[in-house]
Amino acid sequence: MRGMPRPSPKLDGDRPDDWRESALCKDEDPELWFPLGHISPSALYQAEQAKSICYACSVRFECLEDVLNSGDSFGIRAGFDEQERLKTHPDTLRRLASETQADDGPNRVVGRLAESCA
Ligand code: SF4
Repeated sequence: MRGMPRPSPKLDGDRPDDWRESALCKDEDPELWFPLGHISPSALYQAEQAKSICYACSVRFECLEDVLNSGDSFGIRAGFDEQERLKTHPDTLRRLASETQADDGPNRVVGRLAESCA
């Protein structure tokens, strides 16, 4: 079993990991953030569930900055999967994260990603 999507610790600042205590994923099954395969219906459903939790997470911005700094390329982080993070400029990811509401469905966010990359 993989660990929860644990962002790597920052090297500066006091209590750099405080934000992790507020992560909505910390008490969930970590496997949810690591769907196997990207095209099977079950993997897509699993990814949608994980992303929906991320959209409602109060530390999403901290999580996004952490994954952008760490270059972690596995799993869903901050509501974006590996491919979305690789293909999208960090500033666009930041903007999309700020525009996403907790009740947005992943398809709406994917649509915004596609518009941003067009
Ligand atoms: S944004 Fe998602 S992956 Fe990041 S801490 Fe919150 S729930 Fe976990």
